[in-house]
Amino acid sequence: MKSLIVFAHPNPKSFNYALVATVEKSLRARGDEVRMRDLYKANFNPILDSQQLAEVQQGRVPDDVALEQEQVSWADNLIFIYPLWWFDRPAVLKGWFDRVFTNGFAFAYEDGQLQGQLSSKRVMLVITTGGNQADFGIESDQLCTSGTRATLSFCGVDQILQKVFYAVPAVDDAARQAMLLELEGLAESL
Ligand code: FAD
Repeated sequence: MKSLIVFAHPNPKSFNYALVATVEKSLRARGDEVRMRDLYKANFNPILDSQQLAEVQQGRVPDDVALEQEQVSWADNLIFIYPLWWFDRPAVLKGWFDRVFTNGFAFAYEDGQLQGQLSSKRVMLVITTGGNQADFGIESDQLCTSGTRATLSFCGVDQILQKVFYAVPAVDDAARQAMLLELEGLAESL
């Protein structure tokens, strides 16, 4: 299997980085080829400006976007790891979707009908929060419906495994170790 891990956290000492390392280790242990896209480290430009929007509308793909699309095309599995920021993805990841999931690459219209182009992909979403589950008042799967999950479904992905780790800064170290262990098992089963 070929797995691409796309992640967005500005701090290499963050718990999110520990999650990334755990997933990478699990996937490599089961024999996957693994590629990583650290969007902050790569200094990915998330801004779809007027010039780029015009290019996209003319069917032209900027070089940095072509590189990201090649990675997505290569992968069987896409794994997104990020902290919940204002009930959504960090802006750099939202911008990654804005720029990379273009019409003709991630979706297309044929005879006026939407055709998701990424239906062969399996996706895992790993999300951390500051808040407790009880504070949200909704189930984990609803937490991401408006953002990443809806985007992926629009593009034809129907195999989405989702894991939310709640209140990671507030729980104790033992609880965070248990989260890492749980994620190890989930990644193995992807
Ligand atoms: P960190 O703060 O990096 O780490 C948490 C703890 O884990 C720290 O004590 C750290 O030392 C420890 N740790 C690091 N590595 C390890 C390891 N290997 N093993 C064990 N422990 C380790 N939260 C919400 O619930 N809803 C929101 O809408 C929301 N919006 C936000 C918007 C912004 C702009 C920001 C900055 C935060 C927001 N938050 C929100 C909070 C955010 O989701 C959490 O702070 C984040 O998910 C925590 O993950 P982290 O990786 O940053 O944790």
